Amino acid sequence: MLHNDYPIESKLRKETIIVTVKHELEKDLQENEEICPNCKGTGLNIHDNVYGISNNKNVIGIRKPLFPYKNPSLGFCQHCYNGVLKKCSKCGKLKTRNEQYCSCGHDRYIQEQKQIEKNNLAWENVKKIKYNTDEYLTYDFEMLYIEQFDKFVKVDYDDSEVYDLLSDYNFDFSDDKLDIKDLHIYATTELKINIDAYSMVMQACEDLHEDAFDSISNTDISILQDMINDWIEKQLNTTSYVPNYKVGIIFE
Ligand SMILES: [Zn+2]
Ligand SMILES: [Zn+2]
Repeated sequence: MLHNDYPIESKLRKETIIVTVKHELEKDLQENEEICPNCKGTGLNIHDNVYGISNNKNVIGIRKPLFPYKNPSLGFCQHCYNGVLKKCSKCGKLKTRNEQYCSCGHDRYIQEQKQIEKNNLAWENVKKIKYNTDEYLTYDFEMLYIEQFDKFVKVDYDDSEVYDLLSDYNFDFSDDKLDIKDLHIYATTELKINIDAYSMVMQACEDLHEDAFDSISNTDISILQDMINDWIEKQLNTTSYVPNYKVGIIFE
């Protein structure tokens, strides 16, 4: 032997153990649940637990796999949870345990319908104000959010963006026309960068001597906050909007 690390296999031994588990598991299954065919409902299967030995290198001309040995044990079945899989209520296909929606599209359709119902209910109950009325103008909205298109539109007192989106949609889906009265248009809330001088200074003093933070006066922190606020004012492109689901906007 040229390499003294090759004959390590002679130091390995094989032991075979017999696993016999005989036990009845009575499972309460729901209508859309089936026994996992991979583990026959036990929730367990055999894991090989392969491994290699670091000094057991390839010998010239003999290619050994990286993990040639195994130490099998019983572990949880990776295909299911507790021996049970869910099946699609439409096509009956068993879904993998990570598959929320069946590939036939049925689950996704049901999910979408539920979401539409939820959105419709929320829209029915929301406080609504009429676009461009005195009440509306007191709010000074920069942007509006159209739920059906998941789009933000700039308020330009000409509402053309809303109508443009609507006509694009009606062009694409001529069988399923939407009217502006069908749209769920929500107000928005403006979000700006928020940098708090107090917590910034506190963090900056963390590794300094224990009285460092207390030695900084409130006035000095206010001065820093004013400087930060001036800087924030200049970051115009960072302003963001989120839908305000408490105020609906209706067009005539
Ligand atoms: Zn299983
Ligand atoms: Zn299906």
